[in-house]
Order: sequence, then structure tokens, then C-alpha cells
Amino acid sequence: MGSANFILLINLSVAGLLAAAFLTIAVYNVGRASARWLAFGYLLGMVYCAIEFSIPAFDNARPMVVAAFAVFLGATVAFNAGVAHKYAVAPPWPAMLFFLFAATVAVYVVQDLPRQSLARMMVYQLPYAVMQFVGLGIVWSSRQKRDRLDHALMAVLAASGLQFASKPFIAHALGGWGANPQAYMQSSYAQVSQSLGTVFGLALALLILAILVRDVLAEVTLKSEMDTLSRLLNRGGFVRHAEIALVGAVRQGVPVALVIADLDHFKTVNDSFGHASGDRVIEVFAGFLREAAADHHVAGRIGGEEFAIILPGTNLTAARLFAEGTRSAFGALPIEGLPRDSRCTASFGVAELQQGESFANLMRRADEALYQAKNGGRDCVRISTRQAGARQQPSAPGKPQDLNGRD
Ligand code: GH3
Ligand code: MG
Ligand code: MG
Repeated sequence: MGSANFILLINLSVAGLLAAAFLTIAVYNVGRASARWLAFGYLLGMVYCAIEFSIPAFDNARPMVVAAFAVFLGATVAFNAGVAHKYAVAPPWPAMLFFLFAATVAVYVVQDLPRQSLARMMVYQLPYAVMQFVGLGIVWSSRQKRDRLDHALMAVLAASGLQFASKPFIAHALGGWGANPQAYMQSSYAQVSQSLGTVFGLALALLILAILVRDVLAEVTLKSEMDTLSRLLNRGGFVRHAEIALVGAVRQGVPVALVIADLDHFKTVNDSFGHASGDRVIEVFAGFLREAAADHHVAGRIGGEEFAIILPGTNLTAARLFAEGTRSAFGALPIEGLPRDSRCTASFGVAELQQGESFANLMRRADEALYQAKNGGRDCVRISTRQAGARQQPSAPGKPQDLNGRD
């Protein structure tokens, strides 16, 4: 077996393994359509390898050469469809399919040109380059947030496109691509071309696999950090995101405050109106927080009827106003499923991060302020003015203050 044949056999196996990998990914919901198209693309890659193997067995190789070209170009079209689905871009189907048809006809026609003519090789290779650049354009035009992996995919697509465009010149430099299609596999160009195919085919597949796995992980993490009833972060998710927000605020040198809220006499709400009505109150309160929160705020349900929100760029005074606004709006709202004249209220504790203070300590101080709000008659806001390092002393001047004068 010639070495190009050997590389082709490796390509066939690699394409098969990659198709299987993408089909496995397609079993999971995330990126399902994308992974299916990618699997189909690599299956077509296998078919291409099989056709290349069979070409020396044909007296009239022309239909098989054209078929090999069309199938491999079809593989790049399927690859682009997979990329488009992943990046939520509409695949440019009419353009790609028309191009596939036109390029196949052109390759059929140029079989009449001398085999080593540059034009004939260009017609064979440039469509592949075009398809790789279409893939690049799809990633480029996506509105999704891109990170390093996406940029790496764009770079490899560009490199692969350039590689296809340079193949006619590589073939010239290496003495042509065989005297006839049957002799292609024996040429040194075939070895180089097939090896480049392995490198780029594998690099693109691994990058896309890494991107799909990254997306699956992000989705799973998001689900594991969400509370389904309130559609806010759960305690674990809140702590993780709050710590990130705190570090960001400290780095930017802006203040950051924490507001903790606890629904008042919630046990009575459950006992009087039923657990389902209690759930509805939790949903309504969470909706308030979601609406009041800006994109850079971090809101979570940190306990049964306890909520927290981190406000980066907000000092104690502004955070107190935020809490006060939420308190008065929530307390005035009739809640669906509860008697028309009944209202639910919440108590709030507010603290601003002090220099060098840990997140745990900030939570503790906000919790102490909330405790004071409960003791002060509920349906009120208290702020923590205690120094981060100081021990709590209820009667000290730094104790949480009642905004509503209920003390
Ligand atoms: P306080 O004003 O002192 O906060 O009184 P409270 O009754 O709100 O506080 P307590 O801690 O005694 O009771 C909290 C109640 O919240 C008890 C629990 O059954 C209820 N609860 C916790 N999680 C849920 C939930 O997901 N749905 C419903 N409906 N109730 C919940
Ligand atoms: Mg409560
Ligand atoms: Mg509670």
C-alpha cells in the first residue's frame, strides 16, 4: 500500500471516529442539530475517502473524480450547516447548494483541460477554500459571545481556506498530482494533500467538539445554579456569582452593597392560604427582584423565603433606597390567590462592603441588619454600620438603623 493510501485509510478511520463522537454529542439536547450536521459532514468525509480508494479500479475515472469532489465539498457544506446551527446563524442554504452544484459542473467540465493545468487544479481546490471562508463568515456574523475557542476556530478555518487555495501551487512544486486520476494516489502531492487533510479535518473537529462540550458544561452549570420556583440563582449559584461580582467591584474601585430580604410571617401565609399560595408569593417577590435588578446585579434565593442581591457600583445609601423601594412596592401589591385585602411584607438588611472585608463577613453583617429589622417590627429596612472587624453590640452606636422610625 502506498503511503498516500495509508494516510487515506487513517483519514477514513478518523472521520468515522469523529462522526461517532458528534453523534454521541447529538444524544444530549445542547447543540443537537449542530452535532448531527457535523456528524453527517464527517460521514461524507468517509465516503470521500472510500471513493478515492476506488478510483484506480476504474478505466473511466471522470465520474468518480467528480463524485469525490462533490462529496467532499458536500462535507464542507454539512460542516458549515453544523457551525451555523451552533452559532445560531441561518445556514446560507441556497447559496451553498447552488455553489455545490456549480462547482461540481465546473469540475466535470475542466476534466477536458490538461491534467497538470493550474486552472484545472484551481477549479478543484478553490471551492473548498470558499466553503471554509463561508464557515469563518458564519462564526464572524454570529451575535453570540465569542471566547478564545471561537477565535481559534475562526483562525483554523482561515488557515484551512488558505491551505486549499495554495494546493495547486504545492502540487506544481511537487511535480503534479499524478499522470492520471489512477496515479494520483502514488504522487508525493497526494501524500502532502492527504496529510494536510488529516491535520485540518482533525483540528476543526476537535475545536468544534471542545466548543460544544463547553456549551454543554455552561448549560449544566446554569441549570445547577438556578432555582426553578423563583427563576433566580440558588444559594450556591448566588455565592459563586456574588464573589465574582465583589472581586470585580474591588478591582474597579467602586463600592458594592448587599441587600438581604426575608418574607414576614411567611409560615402564617402558608398556614392560612396553603403552600401553593406561599409559592406564588415567593414567585411574585422574586419577580420584583428580577425587575429591579440591572444586568450587573446578582440576585438569588438563598433560603426558603430569603433572598439576596449584590449591587456593584452602589454604596450603602443607594442600596438602602433600593431596599426601601422594593419593600414599599411589594408591601402595597395585592397578590393573586390571596384575599384582596391581604398584603405580604418583607424585612431587609443592607450592608456595604468595607475595605478588606470578606464576602462571608458582609453576609453576616447584612444578616444582622435583617435580624434587627425583624426585631424592629418587620416590613422595614435596616443598615449595618458596624465596622467589619468589630463584634456585634446591639446597643452600640453602630447598630443597624430603622429607617421607618419603628424603634
Ligand atoms: P419571620 O417573619 O420571622 O421571617 O417569620 P416566618 O414565618 O417567615 O419565618 P420562619 O422561618 O418561621 O418560616 C419560614 C417558612 O417558610 C417555613 C416554611 O414552611 C416556609 N417555606 C420555605 N420554603 C418554602 C417554599 O418553597 N414554599 C412555601 N410555600 N413555603 C416555604
Ligand atoms: Mg420569614
Ligand atoms: Mg427565613
